[in-house]
Amino acid sequence: MIIEVAPGIKFIRAQSAGFLFCHCLLIDSEIRAVIDTGAGENAFAPIEPSRIDMVINTHYHPDHTAGNHLFPNARVLVHRLEYPPLVDKEARIYYAGAFRLEKFKQPEQKHREKVRDTKPIPARDFRVDGFIADGDVIDFGHTRATVLHAPGHTPGHVAFYFEREGIVFGSDIDLVNFGPWYGDHLSNIDDFEASIRRIIDLKPRIYCCSHRKPIRENIEEKLLTYLGRIQEAEDRIKQHLTEPVTLDGLVGHNIFYKHYNYAYNEFWERNMIEKHLERMLKKNSIMMIDGDRYVLKR
Ligand SMILES: [Zn+2]
Repeated sequence: MIIEVAPGIKFIRAQSAGFLFCHCLLIDSEIRAVIDTGAGENAFAPIEPSRIDMVINTHYHPDHTAGNHLFPNARVLVHRLEYPPLVDKEARIYYAGAFRLEKFKQPEQKHREKVRDTKPIPARDFRVDGFIADGDVIDFGHTRATVLHAPGHTPGHVAFYFEREGIVFGSDIDLVNFGPWYGDHLSNIDDFEASIRRIIDLKPRIYCCSHRKPIRENIEEKLLTYLGRIQEAEDRIKQHLTEPVTLDGLVGHNIFYKHYNYAYNEFWERNMIEKHLERMLKKNSIMMIDGDRYVLKR
């Protein structure tokens, strides 16, 4: 389904809900461009993919890039920091932290309940034709958009600001109830907070993102609630730090995920808790004892 959010700017709803697909944007101007390509082949069929001139990927995650091959005549643009994982498997493994899976195999199995075998999106190498950077204004013809480097979810994650229309496309600053999500090895919590604040400051009239329908009301309040969940998660972790506890001990408390029934959930849970621990160590609000246990400073 395609929703016109402003003249020349269309929201392409993913063909299926969940995190295997994402909502995308079509800029239907002199230059016809899509922002992200994970809506699914059926969702893109009405827009004539062979007539798309430009593909912009907001970041490397497969649910945003899986359909790049559907646009054979498009130039593919990304932020420079997303280039390595798009073109190279080893870089993808590094960005996601998958190289650490082996190390955590034992504890992971300990916390896992029934593991549902979810078929992952096949990640592949893509062609990239050029780079976009913060502050670039992309002139599509009737429509112009400013690139906002909005890291945190991934290092080169970008959002787009359509100033004349008052629209922001925030990609995986996605305002879903679970989020914000920073489970990659190279995700960064402080950057994520700064990126959310930057979007709040733009006061968008319409907020589009990758896993929810376009939002037209109470946008600032919703972004603030989303931002606040980061501190709420940190406070939940703190409640378990009155006595010394290991990272593995914390993973058992389901701080983020209610279940670890998808094979990666526990891995991501661990990554996200570890990022908070690193941040609290830096802020000096906790300390590490015996090399592997964390406790609140009194
Ligand atoms: Zn993502």
